[in-house]
Amino acid sequence: MPTTLPIFQPTPIFKDRTDYRQVLIREMEAGKIPLSLGRDCPVKCEFCYELDHSYRETLDPPKTSDEDWKFILDYISRKPTDPTQFWCLGGNEFMEWTDLFLHPKAMEWVEDFLKYTDKSIQFFTVGFVHVPKIHQLVAQYPGRINFELSVITLSDYRQRLMPHAPSVKHLMKVLDGPAVSSANFYAFDKDTMSKDAATISAINQQCVLWMGTLTPVRGLKEETASLMRQGRKFLPEEATRIYQLGLPNLQTVHTESYTTAFLSRRRIVSLFDSLELEKKDTVVMAGSVHKILTMFRKNRAKFLYVPNALLSGDSDCTVLLTFDDIARRLTNQKAIHVPKCIMQSGRGPYTDITGVSLEQFTKKTGVRVKVLHKIDTRFANQQLYRHGSLQNYVEQYLNNPLRSAYEAIPRPV
Ligand code: SF4
Repeated sequence: MPTTLPIFQPTPIFKDRTDYRQVLIREMEAGKIPLSLGRDCPVKCEFCYELDHSYRETLDPPKTSDEDWKFILDYISRKPTDPTQFWCLGGNEFMEWTDLFLHPKAMEWVEDFLKYTDKSIQFFTVGFVHVPKIHQLVAQYPGRINFELSVITLSDYRQRLMPHAPSVKHLMKVLDGPAVSSANFYAFDKDTMSKDAATISAINQQCVLWMGTLTPVRGLKEETASLMRQGRKFLPEEATRIYQLGLPNLQTVHTESYTTAFLSRRRIVSLFDSLELEKKDTVVMAGSVHKILTMFRKNRAKFLYVPNALLSGDSDCTVLLTFDDIARRLTNQKAIHVPKCIMQSGRGPYTDITGVSLEQFTKKTGVRVKVLHKIDTRFANQQLYRHGSLQNYVEQYLNNPLRSAYEAIPRPV
């Protein structure tokens, strides 16, 4: 929980808090299929990022009824079909994220969606799917389902982190067939991620192995956060072991922002050069980019390091910075340069993830902001996915001669 009071109060979005259909509409406009359990997620995973989302305004709809479902299906059916778009089951901007396969009608409604629309669907679950049915649907509607199975871990840590999730035995049945597009699981210790990769690949060579570490955010128990941090230490060793196994699946490693920044260093540096900033200009950035620019463009501008204080310091991500985080780091600046990606949240244009707008920021702080339009979420996402393969991580990062110098750069004060 934050120890300091927020500097800014976002303008409330929902005027009439009894009208929950406005939430459904907002989510659908953002490409979501907003089913609701009408309560918090009963699975209560220790690492769940939804445990504390008090930094943003939400209005959670009641459990989705047949009537609500008809409303949702009608609304989405009227939208034009984009063949590249996958509608995501579950809202996550204005309502709480939960495992929606715990809704007794979820399987039936997924089938409805595939039958009555020509659109594609994606969903994330820790595995509460009906096994023969999900394999049958994927076979019946090829290419229209993207099923991301959140395995998290098959190791002994599973019981500690997710005691109410489906059993490993059930997950093996979910994996054994055409249904799962990608399985995500993480490093926590020696022989965690690498063992899981071998086990999953022995059952399913088609699904993508989506690996990495979990990042602590605020609201998690201290022992859970430290287990996640321990996983970071084991990631290089675990990833190398998987690399040596030569598994046939597509394999990715994500979530270490300083690694992504290193692998994208040429693009970051050339984008920085193209901004044509002067030495006296102050630029806002999170730790990873700060590391890269300190290494390759030292003293070319004033780099204002801003930690992700609101989400807890581990995130180290420019996209997730807030105006509150920035305001706390100001000293005597009269003008600052701020990447556009900070103000492209689902809350609205020029608004951060908490709902505070650029206008509120400039009014309250009196600091002029020059928006760096080239540094947008599209650029950030491209960098994340472009270099995400396990092979790239091992060959271009772990085995890179610059790695130790890069890792030795201390976090700015
Ligand atoms: S199942 Fe998903 S939403 Fe539910 S507690 Fe676990 S991580 Fe959170």
